[in-house]
Amino acid sequence: MHGDCLSPVDRALRGVGSVALARLGQWQDDDDLDYVEGHGMLGDFKEPATRTVYVRVRCRKCARCLAHKRRLWTARAMDEVRWSMRTWFGTLTVSPERRFQATMLADKRVSNTRCESLSSLSSVERTRAIARELQPEVTRWMKRVRKASRAQLRYLLVCEPHKDEFPHFHLLLHERGQPVAKRTLEEKWSYGFSNFRLVPAGEVAHVGYVCKYISKSAMTRVRASRRYGQPAGLIRNAAKQ
Ligand SMILES: [Zn+2]
Repeated sequence: MHGDCLSPVDRALRGVGSVALARLGQWQDDDDLDYVEGHGMLGDFKEPATRTVYVRVRCRKCARCLAHKRRLWTARAMDEVRWSMRTWFGTLTVSPERRFQATMLADKRVSNTRCESLSSLSSVERTRAIARELQPEVTRWMKRVRKASRAQLRYLLVCEPHKDEFPHFHLLLHERGQPVAKRTLEEKWSYGFSNFRLVPAGEVAHVGYVCKYISKSAMTRVRASRRYGQPAGLIRNAAKQ
C-alpha cells in the first residue's frame, strides 16, 4: 500500500474477521479477540467478531509520494484530454481587493472555529485557510461558464501558493460536446486575472505543465470532476449526452 514512500505510516483498520481465515487457524494465537459462535456448512465454527488490521500507507509528503501523485494525475489528465473534443489550460488569480476580503473571511473562520488568528498559523495552514474561502468562488465560476456555454465540462484544478503564500489556481478544462469560448472562460472569473489557452491537439505533453505543480509541494491541493481519468467517468458522461 505504501509503494516507494520514504516514510510510510501505519493506519489502523477495524473490521469483521472472516470465517475462512478463522477456519485456517489464523486467529488462534490471538487471545484478545472476541469470538462469535455459529454454524456453517462445515459444522460449528468460532468467528472473531472484529479485528484490527494495521496497514502501512503512504505519507503523502515525501518527494517520492509527490512524484507518485503527479504521475497518477498526469496519466488521468492525459486520458481526459484524449477523450475530449478540446482541452483548455487556464490560470485564475485573485485581485488585491479580493485577497483582502478572502483573508478577512479566513481570519474570521479561524478565530471562530479555533480561537486563533490567521497570522498565528503556519504558512501551510494559512494558505489552506484562504484557499478554502476561494473555493466556492471557483465553483460559482464553473457554474456560470457551464450555464453560458451549455457545455459538458470536466476539470482538474490545482491550488498553488504564490511566493507570498496567497493561493492561485491552475486548471485543465475538458470540453465534451459543445465548445466554450475563451472570452466566456475569462469574463466569468470576476475575482482577478484569468488566462486560458487551448492545449494543442495531439500534444498531451502540455498536461504535464499543470500536473508539475502537483509535485512542487505537499501544500498543493487537487480538485477534479467525479471519476476523473477513469473509464467509468467516460461511460457515465457518454450516457448522459
Ligand atoms: Zn512518502
